[in-house]
Amino acid sequence: MPFGPRRRTVTTLVGDIAVGSDHPVVVQSMTNTDTADVPGTVAQVAALAAAGSQLVRVTVNNDASAAAVPAIVERLASVGIDVPIVGDFHYNGHLLLAKYPETARALAKYRINPGNVGGKRRDEHFRTIVQIAIDNAKPVRIGVNWGSLDQDLLTSMMDENAARPDPADARDIYIEAMLESALRSATLAEETGLAHDRIIISAKVSGVNDLVDVYRLLAARCDYPLHLGLTEAGLGMKGIVSSTAGLSILLSEGIGDTIRVSLTPKPGGDRTEEVLVAQQILQSLGLRSFTPQVTSCPGCGRTTSTFFQHMAEDIQTYLREQMPVWRATYPGVVEMKVAVMGCIVNGPGESKHANIGISLPGTFEDPKAPVYVDGKLAVTLKGDNIVPEFLILLDNYVERTYGTNRGVIGSVTAGV
Ligand code: SF4
Repeated sequence: MPFGPRRRTVTTLVGDIAVGSDHPVVVQSMTNTDTADVPGTVAQVAALAAAGSQLVRVTVNNDASAAAVPAIVERLASVGIDVPIVGDFHYNGHLLLAKYPETARALAKYRINPGNVGGKRRDEHFRTIVQIAIDNAKPVRIGVNWGSLDQDLLTSMMDENAARPDPADARDIYIEAMLESALRSATLAEETGLAHDRIIISAKVSGVNDLVDVYRLLAARCDYPLHLGLTEAGLGMKGIVSSTAGLSILLSEGIGDTIRVSLTPKPGGDRTEEVLVAQQILQSLGLRSFTPQVTSCPGCGRTTSTFFQHMAEDIQTYLREQMPVWRATYPGVVEMKVAVMGCIVNGPGESKHANIGISLPGTFEDPKAPVYVDGKLAVTLKGDNIVPEFLILLDNYVERTYGTNRGVIGSVTAGV
């Protein structure tokens, strides 16, 4: 752990995935299919799981979706996918879980939003869900959200604050109301009989500074595992950057046991992007390793052709495509670092820091590309086939370094 010990002391099992204590931070995601569409949801869960999502949440919002859950879990199991499926409940979770006992059994965890369990009978509905979780030996996530905070609680705390001679800032009261809602619900769940280690807490907001403040306070006030995420992070680059900014601050302080990056996908976009971003955040922070990392320079006036950009992209794509096989065949390959640099200014230096690195010739430089392996110059590539030749060198390196046979797949040039 590069940032000191994690603060959680409790571990909550979700299916066979351990969340909390010093277990690796768990990556999770959520489908955006209609859960009642069994083939569509199965396909998306399979894609998310293949991308590395260790938990997948599905919305369970009506009879059709609740009825579909057992078939989804069954179909996934029939093709060898055992990723735990989490049910996301709002408003009618107490009714659906009671009406569909197979669904209550098939789900690995129930997410309850204390702000959305029902007006005056809130506690009663909440207890109903918790009791079903107890009966089925399931954990729950108490997931408070800035956008659906318990309005009665917020109003009473705001009124109380306004009556003080020196009222606190409204933002502080909002944050306190979120914490109060989460922790009061956790207490109610335990009073109902749910074990302390069957509860995960989240308190999501959509602003980075608010997120950091909320989770720092939450981490200081309880020892439940924390689900971390910037809710409604947004589209594309904005969502990625905002999520990374917020999550990185907290993760670097040891806060966060499971994360989701809530990106708004482009129409027809790939839902697995949120999994890859979550993984990259953890890998960039040195908390987990998922895939070999490519170090590439941004390019500048010394690399006027697009050859360098294409090469960096081709190598990144090649690595991604090999990973399903490499992950199983070459233990430790996820730690590999590959450098793809644009010219001799920083190319050889950066290549020496990588496991294997190539430095392309910049404009007006000699048309040759030195390749460094484990810090030493191994070969210099020339001509029109630099990329395929480098990929063969890469294959050789992976086999030699991470393979059990440690043989050589092929060679391209004397001296390699
Ligand atoms: S390594 Fe060379 S091409 Fe890349 S940014 Fe630096 S000077 Fe420019």
